[in-house]
Amino acid sequence: MRRIGCHVSIAGGIVNAPERAGELGCEVFQMFTRSPQGGAAPKITPEIEKEFKEQMEKHGQKECYIHAPYYINFASSNKAIRSASARVIREELERGSQIGAKYVMFHPGSAKDMDRAEALKITAEGVAKVMNGYSGSTELLLEVSAGAGNVMGDTFEELRDIIKMSGYNLGVCLDTAHIFASGYDIRTEEAMKKTLTDISKTIGKDSIKLIHSNDSKIDLGGRRDRHEHIGDGKIGREAFGYLMSTFNLDFILETEHDKVEEDIKALKDIRAKISDN
Ligand SMILES: [Zn+2]
Repeated sequence: MRRIGCHVSIAGGIVNAPERAGELGCEVFQMFTRSPQGGAAPKITPEIEKEFKEQMEKHGQKECYIHAPYYINFASSNKAIRSASARVIREELERGSQIGAKYVMFHPGSAKDMDRAEALKITAEGVAKVMNGYSGSTELLLEVSAGAGNVMGDTFEELRDIIKMSGYNLGVCLDTAHIFASGYDIRTEEAMKKTLTDISKTIGKDSIKLIHSNDSKIDLGGRRDRHEHIGDGKIGREAFGYLMSTFNLDFILETEHDKVEEDIKALKDIRAKISDN
């Protein structure tokens, strides 16, 4: 574990993703399997499935993860949007199972003018709808949000509530930029411990299955989602050492590709100094 990778493009088809990841120095990677903005998903034929798996092997990619499209909203007051969200996430789980992806992560959505308790309830119902009757191998993760506006799942308490109310034992993808913008500090060893205590009291440390390791352009508690290169943002490089010491998981970067190779190297350097590695 503590394998390092980043989000890569699927331009030209998902079969191109493993090579792109390999060229950047990824040991694992993340991708969309469809346009994140919308539209039908391109079919994964048995030929594509086979070639994708061969490319993973050829380029030394140990695991791949799928990010759900951005338009998902389980807290929408529009029932059609909620239904479409459940259908798309289920499709991504099925598609992930086909190509051997380990996790699909999604952002629960945003509740416009709805009462918070009601928004939590319908979000949990949507998640339950996704999972009902699903028997594939790819697991579903809720991603912690950055807390802008009426975004759902920006605290560990809310994630706990959504998971509990859904009736399914789902995991969580922890995004460092998002938790930081939501007010969870990880910049010092002490701060990391306090955040870990918050996690332990709510969803539990074992619920966290994957780390999105991004620095943040936004200050602590700034409630906006702007990723920054490792060490260039408000979180700072040291935090990623505390994080790696705390979580023996895979680390995925979602930073701009101009310097993502440097970010991958930075995380590998940090990993080399972890005591129990
Ligand atoms: Zn993320």
